[in-house]
Amino acid sequence: MAAPALSPSLLLLLLPTLMLALPVSAAKNIITIGALFDQHEADPALEMAFRYGVEQASQTLNVPDVALVPTVERVQTSNGFHTSKRVCHLLKLGVGAIVGPSAEPAASHVRSMCDTKSVPHIDTTWRYRRGSEHFSVNLYPHAATLSKAYVDILKTLGWTKFHVLYEDNDSLVRLQEVLQMPDNNNKISASVRQLPKNKDYRPLLKQVQNSGGTHIVIDCSTENIFNVLKQAQQIGMVTRYYHYFFTNLDLHTVELHDFQYAGTNITGLRLINTTDLRVVKSVESWKEAEAARGRHVPITASRLSTEAALLYDAALLFAKAAADLHSSRDISVTSLNCDLDDLWPHGESMFNYMQLVEVEGLTGLVRFDTLGQRSSFSLDVLSVLEEGLTPFGRWGPDGFSIVGSDSRTRQTPSIRNQNLIVTTLIKEPYTMMKESTEKLVGNDRYEGICIDLIQELSRMLGFNYTIVVNADGAPGTYNETTGRWNGMIGELLDGKADLAIADLTITSDREAVVDFTMQFMNLGISILYRKPTKQPPSLFSFLSPLSLRVWVYMAAATMGVSLLMFVLARFTPYEWEPPHPCAPDQDQLENQFNFLNCIWFCIGSLMQQGCDFLPKAVSTRMVAGMWWFFTLIMISSYTANLAAFLTVERMSSPIESAEDLAAQTDIKYGTYADGSTATFFRTSKIWPYNKMWQVMKNANPSVFFDTKAGIKKVEDDEGKYAYFMESSSIEYVVEQMCELSQVGDLLDNKGYGIALPPGSPWINQLNQQMLRMQEEGKLAALKRMWWERDRKVCEEDGGGSIASELDLENVGGVFVCLMGGMVVATLIAIVEFVFHLRAQTADNNTSVLSEMGRELHVILRCRGSTKPARITADRRSSGGSGLVAFPSGAAEKHAPAFAGYDTPAVS
Ligand code: GLU
Repeated sequence: MAAPALSPSLLLLLLPTLMLALPVSAAKNIITIGALFDQHEADPALEMAFRYGVEQASQTLNVPDVALVPTVERVQTSNGFHTSKRVCHLLKLGVGAIVGPSAEPAASHVRSMCDTKSVPHIDTTWRYRRGSEHFSVNLYPHAATLSKAYVDILKTLGWTKFHVLYEDNDSLVRLQEVLQMPDNNNKISASVRQLPKNKDYRPLLKQVQNSGGTHIVIDCSTENIFNVLKQAQQIGMVTRYYHYFFTNLDLHTVELHDFQYAGTNITGLRLINTTDLRVVKSVESWKEAEAARGRHVPITASRLSTEAALLYDAALLFAKAAADLHSSRDISVTSLNCDLDDLWPHGESMFNYMQLVEVEGLTGLVRFDTLGQRSSFSLDVLSVLEEGLTPFGRWGPDGFSIVGSDSRTRQTPSIRNQNLIVTTLIKEPYTMMKESTEKLVGNDRYEGICIDLIQELSRMLGFNYTIVVNADGAPGTYNETTGRWNGMIGELLDGKADLAIADLTITSDREAVVDFTMQFMNLGISILYRKPTKQPPSLFSFLSPLSLRVWVYMAAATMGVSLLMFVLARFTPYEWEPPHPCAPDQDQLENQFNFLNCIWFCIGSLMQQGCDFLPKAVSTRMVAGMWWFFTLIMISSYTANLAAFLTVERMSSPIESAEDLAAQTDIKYGTYADGSTATFFRTSKIWPYNKMWQVMKNANPSVFFDTKAGIKKVEDDEGKYAYFMESSSIEYVVEQMCELSQVGDLLDNKGYGIALPPGSPWINQLNQQMLRMQEEGKLAALKRMWWERDRKVCEEDGGGSIASELDLENVGGVFVCLMGGMVVATLIAIVEFVFHLRAQTADNNTSVLSEMGRELHVILRCRGSTKPARITADRRSSGGSGLVAFPSGAAEKHAPAFAGYDTPAVS
């Protein structure tokens, strides 16, 4: 096989290599492999890796009559014409393959030129997809597989809420699987933002910070990694609470010294195992070779870029394919002319061999799947620790696994011996300045329940802390205009504090941006108002023992029982009696229970007096008996309750609840404007709270005061101002100030918690200890101690609520008994009536119906309290004179009614 003609320029170019590599000089057949680099490429390692890769491959080729020779062209990648010229130049020299360039669109231009000439092209840069070219292989890990690797790692690390910051459209493609994570699992949420082109990343990072973002996935070029981290550091985002995941495979080439000591979780990936002996030795040998030529190249194995390693591996791959191909047939390069349709005859076979062979390179095992993609590769997962970039896991085709004991401690570092900054607010009795005759310094200056709590936690968990009072003096509210949080929450987000402990209410807004421990105190919003004042006794206070309802029911019962008495007395024959007891045979019967007498009887009994006539029939006696029982109970209850009412002083308050406040305009009401209480009213959609917010907001002068001023205003305004505040604080205030009290129930239910920066690793440890303190009763004991410490003994207020009017619930049973008695009495009356009817029917030999008709006629007239006596058959036969005492004209008038009775002769 003939060697290709070598031009003098090529020989000149190859001279160093030819001199270095003996096998080349001894070779008969020189196969050149070309590489294209950008003119402005600054990294000397790229060209070096390529050249030494070819040299190394040539030495290990094991084919005695073939030598590989590298040739490098520098091209203006932005200039298509220039690129084509250099490619044509290489083709003219005759090359077995062309590597590079990395920049698009020059790369795709070169790929299509190689395609036309059947010359294999080797790519070493990330590309989304292969073009339609047949002769190109890409050594860079396949995009889709890489994207899957990101997802595996993020899942294993437990990232559920994160921000994705990307640089360009390519980044989005690289991250497509990551961006689909929330869709596939609704427990995961991600927000996506683009890094600005002007390289001022701070505003964007600030936005992430203010939204409580602590887990950030960043896809950016290698040269921007440092910039992003540096700017994040400038705004306090390089602290132990932040987690970064860089998708770039070259994080190890960036100088990360500035970020090593903050405890920030920076995770990166690396394709090259830089500690591998093969990598270290290769780089050392390049350096030595360069040094032998008097050149000092500042390159180390630990900083070797992925592209350099891939260029090296490209040479190895080509060499292996050439050797394998050469073992089956002789190959040589041919000079190709761009203006002609000539092809490299071995191109296709060479390309096929390149796709089939496997080589162990600096980036691990290089092999391609059936689609010609490098989808089988492994990645080191690295973390920036104090000792530098340290691998803590490995991703491979089987997924991600954490290696080494470091993994656990990395996830949950211990709080022990940490020095934490604790921010707080001065407010009684949570945190107060200690009064002392000595000069106090440091944490000793403060006292209060929060101080005791943090002290106890620090004792149990072994951390050190420094208390710093918040400069804003506010718990923390979000400012829509500035997009920033103030107060303690702002401090946590800015990385200025590690813990916030105060009367800090756990709210959903705050929970979204910071982390809270469990509640250490439960509370709700209530009203602080002046204590109820003593009421002068009312003129009609005698009515107070019973409720209006009971009075009405009693009146109704009196009328009802009177009516029943009247009706039953008419029905029962035993209440009809001769008017003169000494003359039982009179013709007229009289009934003493007319309606007015019935009322008189009932009222007399109710007043515990009685009257001069009493029932005689069993039924009416039943009515009377039950009524007396009823009056006995009612009067006793009334008397007993009246005694209580007369002995206690009645207290009155114009408001009893928030609804009462909302319904009036006389008493002003307000709250603390910068706290969760104001937020409750501002965001409430429930009446009356929404209406109350409008009233508070529009009030002039303002009704918003801080807690101290609010309490003073309630005290000074003598019932003209009510202050909404949290019940725990109200409880404390009323212990101190006898003239103030809590009014109404709690409007909501919530609690105070210790806040930590988002993603803080201490939360579980703190929670555990707080739970223990709660179970041991320490939290309750602390509260009792601080709330009762300065308690004032207040004058008893007479217990306004001791005597309360009796309502139906208290005396309803008596009414039920009464009604039962009435029913029984009615039944007895019916029995009496029927019994008497039967006797009369038998006496008079009349039918039951006609007797009943006559009786009912007299009864149901409901008029008059006399009726004619019925003459029995006995009396008629004994010649009784009959009855005489009909009023004049009555006999005529009632003739039909009295049919069957003896009609007396009117004298
Ligand atoms: N504890 C409240 C907060 O954390 C402050 C007091 C209040 O709003 O009543 O916002």
